[in-house]
Amino acid sequence: MPTDRLQRPVLVLNASFEPINICAARRALVLVLKGVAAAEEECLHAVHSARAAMRMPSVIRLLEYRRIPHQTRALSRKNILMRDRYTCQYCHRTLPSAELTLDHVIPRSRAGESAWENLVACCHSCNNRKGGRTPEDAGMKLARPPRPFSLHTSRHLMRMLGRSDAQWRKYLFY
Ligand SMILES: [Zn+2]
Repeated sequence: MPTDRLQRPVLVLNASFEPINICAARRALVLVLKGVAAAEEECLHAVHSARAAMRMPSVIRLLEYRRIPHQTRALSRKNILMRDRYTCQYCHRTLPSAELTLDHVIPRSRAGESAWENLVACCHSCNNRKGGRTPEDAGMKLARPPRPFSLHTSRHLMRMLGRSDAQWRKYLFY
């Protein structure tokens, strides 16, 4: 099964239909199979497993209402790639997870921190080109300033992604 399909973003709604998150299709399928969420919208592609063909959800809804904690998401490679939509922030190419690395915008050698504001998705060739330099020194420009993946940011992200996914629109623009 193609892994890019399992990485497709899926919109997650609370039981109240309020959009609360996005997750990778792989995670959405697990939530549906566990009975934690139901698929509200499905893609046209089917996922074939050994025993059955299953439709890939594009929007899921949690079956029980979940209080949203006032905390940002964990700083992880996966969440940074998700925030940056698997797109190299220097050359704007969208690539599979395995072909992306995390770049410290201000290099660690210059006391750059491992933080949301200093980590971006970056392809291997841009990473090599940039080396231990700042974007300014390397003559490279970031697509946008990196920000924490807060709920606010995910709402912004959902709106942006929603433009390309017609099935998300009715949940996002109301
Ligand atoms: Zn690149």
